[in-house]
Amino acid sequence: MKLDLHIHTTEFSSCSTMSPDELMIAARENGLDGVCITEHNRIWTKSQAEALSNKHGLAVFRGMEVTTTGGDILVFGLEEEPDGMWTPAMLKSKVDAVGGAAIAAHPFRGFLLFGFGDLKMQVQDALDNPTFSQVHGLEVCNGLVTETENNLAREVAEAAGLIMIGGSDAHRPEAVGTCITEFHDFIANEKELVQAILSSRFSLRKIK
Ligand SMILES: [Zn+2]
Ligand SMILES: [Zn+2]
Repeated sequence: MKLDLHIHTTEFSSCSTMSPDELMIAARENGLDGVCITEHNRIWTKSQAEALSNKHGLAVFRGMEVTTTGGDILVFGLEEEPDGMWTPAMLKSKVDAVGGAAIAAHPFRGFLLFGFGDLKMQVQDALDNPTFSQVHGLEVCNGLVTETENNLAREVAEAAGLIMIGGSDAHRPEAVGTCITEFHDFIANEKELVQAILSSRFSLRKIK
């Protein structure tokens, strides 16, 4: 089952120019079976997601991209919206309490601007990031960052034994489906989505 796990729409993300209907049309055109909408610090209601899913005949799951003191963290299975800036540890305890999944989004976006040396040095430095001990995984295929930044995320996730997911981070229709997470099983609900993420029952594909 092909899903795009990182998406922003005009519904709750002011930085996005893509309406929910435009998202679904683009998802269908790109051969996706569904999407997981991850607005900044807001979660869609179940009925909103169901209505969009029924209207377009594709699965719609809900997550959130939470702004923490340690960077953006994607969460799946958590309904509670942040009431301020949480630390990664605060977020992780809330996610663990509901059996959800926490994934550091685009963990090295802009990282190369800092001019680190060779890749080995970067991986070692990167492993010291305290955020990485407060997540289940890293987003290693993000549609908005460079290939080098995605590759570094993958190396760090492998070295740390973390889960590796992908998502387009689409804010406009053309970007939908650029990074696809293809699950081995049919995902019927959000609980199954979380379980499939936590057990790494998927493979990643970068399309564009
Ligand atoms: Zn982000
Ligand atoms: Zn995002």
